[in-house]
Amino acid sequence: MSRLSGKVALVTGASRGIGAAIALRLAREGADVAITYASSPDKAETVAGALRETGRRAVALRSDSAEPHAPAQAVARVVEEFGRLDILVSNAGIGYWKALEDFTIEEFDRVMAVNVRAAFTGAQAAAARMGQGGRIITIGSCNADRVPAPGSTLYAMSKSALIGLTKGMARDLGPRGITVNLVQPGPIDTDMNPADGERADSLRALMALGHYGEGEDVAGLVAYLASAESRFVTGTALTIDGGYNI
Ligand code: NDP
Repeated sequence: MSRLSGKVALVTGASRGIGAAIALRLAREGADVAITYASSPDKAETVAGALRETGRRAVALRSDSAEPHAPAQAVARVVEEFGRLDILVSNAGIGYWKALEDFTIEEFDRVMAVNVRAAFTGAQAAAARMGQGGRIITIGSCNADRVPAPGSTLYAMSKSALIGLTKGMARDLGPRGITVNLVQPGPIDTDMNPADGERADSLRALMALGHYGEGEDVAGLVAYLASAESRFVTGTALTIDGGYNI
């Protein structure tokens, strides 16, 4: 597979989970890949090592998406290191699930900073450096469209903001030949949402397929969006949820 040879990708929040799977897939398809992490340097280095084993160049950058300028700084460091940037995958995300009255203002600010502001500022910085064929891909959630249980207000709000972000940027960047798309996963087995976790059975009960997905499932869709094959796809949200939202 070499759909992405000659390309440079940045995947945020890729020390584990979906981001790590995306980074590995992009490298296997030929891209040089930079990843970011916030608090897991060892895990991030392990992922970077696996990326290098594919024969591609790779670097792990500490970059806390909650910090206002961190996403733009990460983009600048990638361009410094690799000389260009073709693909941005804004994957870093967090969530708090609790009763409405229990959310704090700090939690509100942190969720919006990591899930929304960082996606915006990262894309803004990336777009400034991308040429024709650039790809901006953000990882949202199927909860942007459907919230079947209580406790998800803050998370769902942050992920639905990405729909507008995607549409707006697709209009801004379409004339430059840069596509902007949103990937909305359903339950994927990661630290954030383990398939053996407390909520897992209730989520499985909502899914047509009845089982969790793997990071690789999301990575396959992201690789398609990152490739030239997807050149006519922009401004849209692609849901990959095992039939959770139907
Ligand atoms: P995990 O919690 O398993 O992994 C999160 C990753 O993001 C880690 O690499 C973590 O780095 C990084 N990260 C967290 N906060 C920050 C930050 N402030 N700055 C930089 N990196 C950060 O999550 P998933 O892999 O499950 O989720 C990835 C994305 O997919 C998220 O946007 C999530 O909302 C979305 N998603 C996940 C679903 C699921 O069922 N798993 C379903 C729908 C959407 P570190 O190790 O350093 O903390």
